[in-house]
Amino acid sequence: MKFNTKVIHGGQKPDPAYGAVMPPIYQTTTYAQTTPGEHKGYAYSRTHNPTRNALENAFAALENGNFGLAFGSGLAAIDAVVKLLKPGDEVIATNDLYGGTYRLFTKIFASFGIKFHFVGMKNASTIESFINSNTKLIWVETPTNPLLQIIDIKAIAAIAKKHHVLFAVDNTFATPYLQQPLDLGADIVMHSATKYLGGHSDVVMGALVVKDKELAGKLYFIQNASGAICGPQDSFLVLRGIKTLHVRMQRHCENGKAIAMYLAAHPKIEKVYWPGFDTHQNHDIAKAQMKDFGGMLSFTTKGNNYEEAIKIVEKLKLFTLAESLGGVESLAGHPASMTHASIPKEEREKIGVVDSLIRLSVGIEDEVDLIADLKQALE
Ligand SMILES: *Cc1c(COP(=O)(O)O)cnc(C)c1O
Repeated sequence: MKFNTKVIHGGQKPDPAYGAVMPPIYQTTTYAQTTPGEHKGYAYSRTHNPTRNALENAFAALENGNFGLAFGSGLAAIDAVVKLLKPGDEVIATNDLYGGTYRLFTKIFASFGIKFHFVGMKNASTIESFINSNTKLIWVETPTNPLLQIIDIKAIAAIAKKHHVLFAVDNTFATPYLQQPLDLGADIVMHSATKYLGGHSDVVMGALVVKDKELAGKLYFIQNASGAICGPQDSFLVLRGIKTLHVRMQRHCENGKAIAMYLAAHPKIEKVYWPGFDTHQNHDIAKAQMKDFGGMLSFTTKGNNYEEAIKIVEKLKLFTLAESLGGVESLAGHPASMTHASIPKEEREKIGVVDSLIRLSVGIEDEVDLIADLKQALE
C-alpha cells in the first residue's frame, strides 16, 4: 500500500460493533467479563482500549513497523524506551537534542545510574569512540532542533548493528511522510504526536513503533506497568489528524521551501538553516533519506542583535509567537529567550543558538501571506 493510502486506511477497519467508519471513542475504564478472566480482549483501559489500539495500528502502518504504542506525551514515550535499561548502562545521544529529552536524560535517568554521552553526529563515525560494552542505546534526532542538522540514519544503524546496540530515532520533525527510520535500520521510532501527526495543536501525545516482537513485548509491558497512556478522546483526535498528514506535509514542505528561498535572498538575513539548500553541510544525506525537506527552518539576522530579533518576532502577525511546532498554523520562536533560555549565553552560542536566531514552524496558509508577514516584520 502506498503511503498516501496508508494514512487513511493503514491498520484501520470499520468498527466490528456497528460498522462505524471512524473508531468510536470508547470512553470506558473497564469491560464486562462473562466468567472471571473471559472477555473480548479488553479487561482494563490502561492495558488496552479499542480507540487507542486503532491509533496504535495506524502508527505502526505509517512507520512500516509491526507494533505501535501510544503514550500521554512524547516525553512519556521516551521515558518508556529508557526504562528498557538498567543502572550501569550507557546511552549515546545527539548533542543538538530537544530540551525536554535532555532534561529527562540528565535530571531523571542519570540519577538512576544510567550514563549519557551527548555527541555531535554530523559525521556518523564520531560515535564509535564512545561505544563500550555498557553501551545499550543510541538516541538520534534528525533533523535537529533548532539548527536543522541532518544525521545519517543508515550509517548510525550500521554502527549500532555492529556493536549490538539498540538504535532509536526521534522522527518528530520529519514525520513518516518524509523519512521512515525503521526501513533505514533503526530499531525504534519515536514521535511527539503533539506536533505533525496530530497536526492541529490540540493534543499532547507520544508514539513508539518497532518491528521486533520481543522488543515490542518489553515496551508494552512498560507501557502498562508504568501507565503513561493516552485517553480515548485524544486517540480519536490524533487518528483524525493523521488522515491528512500527507496533504499537510506536502504543503508544509512547499511553504517551507518558498520561505527559505525568500529569506536567503533578503539583505537583512545572515544565514538560513534549512536542509534543502545544496550548501547545507549534509544536504546529500537529507536528499537520500528524506522525501522532501520539511516545514521547519531557522535564520539569523546580520549584526546578531538580540533586541532586533525580539522586535521581529513581536511584529509578526500571521506567525504566532509560541512554543511547539507542526500544526497547520505558522509559529515563530526565539530560542535564546524561549526554549534555550536556561542555557548560559556562552554555551548556547557554542552550539550555534545565537541571539538573533529565530525558528519558524511554517504552516499550511498561503505562502504569499506568510512571506508578506515576514517582509513587514523585517522592515
Ligand atoms: C515536542 C518534542 C518532544 C517532546 O514531546 P511532548 O509531546 O511535548 O512530550 C520530543 N522530541 C521533539 C523533537 C519534540 O519536538
